[in-house]
Amino acid sequence: MAGRSAGRVALVTGGARGIGAATAARLAEDGAAIAIADLDGAGAEKTAAEIAAAHGVKAIGLKANVAEAAAVEAMITEVVARLGALDILVNNAGITRDNLIYRMTDEDWDSVIDVHLKGAFLCARAAQREMVKRGWGRIVNLSSASALGNRGQTNYSTAKAGLQGMARTLAIELGRYGITANAVAPGFIDTEMTRQTAIRMGRDPEEWKAEVAQNIPVRRAGVPRDVANVIAFLCSDDASFVSGQVIYVAGGPRG
Ligand code: NAP
Repeated sequence: MAGRSAGRVALVTGGARGIGAATAARLAEDGAAIAIADLDGAGAEKTAAEIAAAHGVKAIGLKANVAEAAAVEAMITEVVARLGALDILVNNAGITRDNLIYRMTDEDWDSVIDVHLKGAFLCARAAQREMVKRGWGRIVNLSSASALGNRGQTNYSTAKAGLQGMARTLAIELGRYGITANAVAPGFIDTEMTRQTAIRMGRDPEEWKAEVAQNIPVRRAGVPRDVANVIAFLCSDDASFVSGQVIYVAGGPRG
């Protein structure tokens, strides 16, 4: 298994922490050189340095807002200039702005749609140019079990369902160039995002996690590496005939 992504260059957006950081580390374990892009530039550089030290691969951290077209173009140019290629894109950057529909503001809607949907679109459009040149590529979109519908998440649920349609369409358009595109849809994963959600609901994060776990068939909350393992498989040659799929990583059929 070791080295199955050796020689590849992977870009993980929103990779300073959480699922993105675990995915970058998992891909590095498989031998890929890593670029981490995040709004938090210092966090991206710190995570990249830890990954380089732990796995002996090249790893760089960049500050970038995936929702801004010029920033995305500059980010892809920098990755190719510093790491020599771009073979793997993980569209992981994400935010939540939860509210019931009657309280959801235009800003709640626009910011979530911009980061998830426009961000993934901009990154995929820029990255596929590099992948087409080399006749090989992997794109993985982070969807969510919330794509199936979730109270208080009209914006997020819509974005996460959209990311599934995007992956299927990219799979159809880009397959002839050796590029696969898939979506991974996590259920409840213990990260800063879910901890902040608990705090917003006035709940103790650990207590809430334990309660949620009772309704997950495998009786535990997910950890970032659960998701990273599936993404690393989809990014490898082992998964070259898997494209346009949505894989729920939720400890059961629904998160
Ligand atoms: P997280 O801990 O909040 O990490 C998300 C990262 O994305 C943060 O470092 C954040 O940076 C960065 N980011 C946000 N907006 C960005 C932008 N415009 N440009 C670049 N980076 C940006 O979240 P997570 O739980 O690891 O989630 C990762 C992905 O999995 C997200 O797409 C999320 O929707 C999805 N997901 C998570 C769960 C879960 O249970 N945790 C379940 C299903 C799906 P800042 O800190 O600077 O804002």
